Amino acid sequence: MVKSNVRMSVVDDVIRGSCVVMRRTCGYDNCRCTKGHKHRSLYVSQYDKGSPRMIYIPKKNEKEVKRLVANYKMIKRAIYKASESNLMRFTAK
Ligand SMILES: [Zn+2]
Repeated sequence: MVKSNVRMSVVDDVIRGSCVVMRRTCGYDNCRCTKGHKHRSLYVSQYDKGSPRMIYIPKKNEKEVKRLVANYKMIKRAIYKASESNLMRFTAK
């Protein structure tokens, strides 16, 4: 929840981590996944205070989550580049 009335939409729409597709069996004995047609699920993989974790993403949210993960990477790159050029600006002779 963003309380500021100036909503920085670009920075709000982010998820930190990587999208990982995993194939798994569901546990039902008569399911097709037992014969090799495993279920495909999307997870977000991220480090939380140094520990890795995987968060399951329900199918209906996959598209939006992928977009937010991509946003995070894009913003991170942009901040890195800005930081580098600012540092040059303040340290150049
Ligand atoms: Zn199954």
